[in-house]
Amino acid sequence: MQKTSIETMTGPRILPADDASIAEAASKLSKGGVVAFPTETVYGLGGSSMDPEALDSIYRLKGRRQDNPLIAHVLDIESACSITTGWDDRCTLLAEAWWPGPLTLVLGRASDVPDQASGGRPTLAVRSPEHPVARALLKAFGGPVSAPSANRSGAVSPTCAQHVIDDFSGNPDADGLIVLDGNRSRVGIESTVLDMTLDPPRILRPGVLTAEVLQPLIGQIETTTIREQDASPGTTDKHYSPQTPCMLVEEPELVEHLSGNNQRCVVITSISGRSSLVQPPHELIVMPIDPVGYAVELYEALRRADAERADLILIEIAGENDPNWLAVRDRLMRAASDRIS
Ligand code: AMP
Ligand code: MG
Repeated sequence: MQKTSIETMTGPRILPADDASIAEAASKLSKGGVVAFPTETVYGLGGSSMDPEALDSIYRLKGRRQDNPLIAHVLDIESACSITTGWDDRCTLLAEAWWPGPLTLVLGRASDVPDQASGGRPTLAVRSPEHPVARALLKAFGGPVSAPSANRSGAVSPTCAQHVIDDFSGNPDADGLIVLDGNRSRVGIESTVLDMTLDPPRILRPGVLTAEVLQPLIGQIETTTIREQDASPGTTDKHYSPQTPCMLVEEPELVEHLSGNNQRCVVITSISGRSSLVQPPHELIVMPIDPVGYAVELYEALRRADAERADLILIEIAGENDPNWLAVRDRLMRAASDRIS
């Protein structure tokens, strides 16, 4: 909508997630609007899964490629079945064990669900979020909500309400955007995406729920490497990336960069004792040594590092060959990828 004066611009705003603001957000969704809300993985930018215009707004606001499919958020299995085809006993086993939670299942897309809900694909990804505010919003709205992460496309995902404001303030399309505040996301990285249309099912995007955890429920699961993720377009691009150039390094390279005297670096590491190596003007961000704790703090650390406006972010990558580190390593590799700008 055309603005007549700067006074009419309200910008995105954070609202405490009480009954009144959840009702306001649900009413926006009912009118084809878009709202930002917390989930346990990251904050989402949601619109009605059944409303093509709301879905178009999500793509426009994020600057997201039209062929990058969205995840539909639902309250329960029944709602998931109403928008998908091909739900089977294995899906029930997975959902009974892990829903609500950070597990997304890719199934067939029901014929009445708009193309835009899945970037034109015949499949649709569904997840039931655990965050109480996400659930209250789904309940108040009464239908599925498609929601990618609430950041500009390609940038670092948001894990608190202020991150969403940081990304969208100043964007005229985000005028009046409500951001429901649900504190920091408990998991901190995006859900595991499991393609149930394949036999055996395949993990398209690693998350905190690993193949090792899911296999005992449904048998063999394939995993996909970072280089071969055409089946899941959002995972092929440079993604989760700070503005500052970012590199994954091992110790010799770290030392080399820190001793180069004309560049200032921010070092993100979970290796102890690095404070003697990383001296001013360089900055050190110390990360948890376990993959679950690391995931929780990952995007906050990338945003903090970026805010330093240094020349380079150096990340000492952790957990070589350990499946529990797969999802964190996946995000770090993309953050440091220079394949697509
Ligand atoms: P996000 O941007 O965090 O909402 O995650 C959405 C991602 O989930 C997409 O970029 C894809 O990688 C994956 N995804 C969602 N829907 C599908 C689908 N129908 N088929 C394959 N991957 C999907
Ligand atoms: Mg995203």
